[in-house]
Amino acid sequence: MKFGNLFLWSAAAVFLLLLFSAGAQAAEHPNLYTYKVGAFQVSLLSEGQSDGSGSNLIGADEAAMKKYVFGADGTYPTAVNAFLVRTPERLILVDAGFGRALFSNLKSLGVEPEQIDAVLLTHMHGDHIGGLLIDGKAAFPKADLYLARQERDYWTSGEIMKTFPEDRQGGFKNAQKALEAYGEAVRTFEPSELNSDHEPLLPGIAAIAAFGHTPGHTLYMVESEGAKLLIWGDLTHAMSIQMPIPQVAMTYDVDPQMAVASRLAVLKYVTDGKGKIPVAGMHIPYPGIGEVAPDPAGGYQFTPAP
Ligand SMILES: [Zn+2]
Repeated sequence: MKFGNLFLWSAAAVFLLLLFSAGAQAAEHPNLYTYKVGAFQVSLLSEGQSDGSGSNLIGADEAAMKKYVFGADGTYPTAVNAFLVRTPERLILVDAGFGRALFSNLKSLGVEPEQIDAVLLTHMHGDHIGGLLIDGKAAFPKADLYLARQERDYWTSGEIMKTFPEDRQGGFKNAQKALEAYGEAVRTFEPSELNSDHEPLLPGIAAIAAFGHTPGHTLYMVESEGAKLLIWGDLTHAMSIQMPIPQVAMTYDVDPQMAVASRLAVLKYVTDGKGKIPVAGMHIPYPGIGEVAPDPAGGYQFTPAP
């Protein structure tokens, strides 16, 4: 049996399991999944599942492509996610996806945009900030918008924008529009170093630097009652190959080498020391949350949350 077939069959088996287990819980929207972190709840808000193109990968040799990138035309399973963190005091959105299913997902969870207290950005790519605006206005009118100072500086630099051809400046312009719409509500910060005491940004949430994918790419450590979850943004895009071979980078990493170094450091961090730290990612297929373990064959393995 070819690996691709094996994957499809195991995906089908997982899907059937999900169908069967769904009966035990309230019927949840398929774009939603809720995970407990101590007294907090973290909900996946999926914008959808998709296939990424193998042509976006840097540093994967032919054998690795054959083994880990499948689909008739060389694709890998991926997704676009945002997350809602409910703490006893606050409703916090981490990234805003494209803004396609975001608002109906929030509605399904009983949350109106006006109730969101804070939006934390991992970075300012279009699939993370699309939901920030509706008709050019702040979609979350009562929220503070948090992002790393380094991320704001990059996307608002006219000098850097000018180094790109005009047809590739759209990302900069969209980021600038979002920051302008949130105006005084924009809060920039210096993310903590990974291997340091993480300074809380909000109660139970710390911002951690994992630069490379973008110059201010930030992870959020959620911690309550001794339980943790690391929302790692775009630390990975292609789990099927970047877990066994974290050295594989993406063509849209601003600094692919630095992105690889960050990925390796974070994978070590969540699997080292005093117990594993579960992770959530913006491009981890449904349920978007799970656990990482070192693979005896080298690299890492990912197990989705049950
Ligand atoms: Zn990105």
